[in-house]
Amino acid sequence: MLFAHDTECSLIAAAALVNTAGGAEGLPDVTALDQFYVAHAYTGRHEHTEAELRSVRELRPRLRRLWDVDVHEVVTIVNGLLREHAALPQLITHDDEPYHFHAVPRDAPLAIRMAVEAAMAVADLVRNGELNRLRVCAHPDCDNVLVDLSRNRSRRFCEAGCGNRAAVTAYRARKAAAQA
Ligand SMILES: [Zn+2]
Ligand SMILES: [Zn+2]
Repeated sequence: MLFAHDTECSLIAAAALVNTAGGAEGLPDVTALDQFYVAHAYTGRHEHTEAELRSVRELRPRLRRLWDVDVHEVVTIVNGLLREHAALPQLITHDDEPYHFHAVPRDAPLAIRMAVEAAMAVADLVRNGELNRLRVCAHPDCDNVLVDLSRNRSRRFCEAGCGNRAAVTAYRARKAAAQA
């Protein structure tokens, strides 16, 4: 593991959340948010309401900017999110998880907890000089984001199958070149 467990989980969840906004709506209804909540092992308050869904969707463009701007702008966004939600980091344990940071109460709205978790995790990257772990997919037709948690910083494609697509395109190009 490169970073603390909660940092890695939060980064992966933040990237996945951002990617639900790319192309077809990945969070079309409350049920889709329920599935996202389970898939990323969220705990705490979850209302299953349209209002909650809306606030989670509205968070996405703000988080997306973390992938697109320089470190100084990232710091401005991170500090803004932490200040706005009165983040107060506390080490806690629950549900058999090891000690990890929560910076807002567990009964805070889901979108706020998602925002603060992402901000705390990105703050970790900034402090470690590892912000370049946040990448945009290298496939020319894809605008998804990813978090490269590989040891050798080798990850270039998102999880939507772009690595395979790129390999197939390269293979066809080689074959066409060989036949020409
Ligand atoms: Zn927790
Ligand atoms: Zn991609």
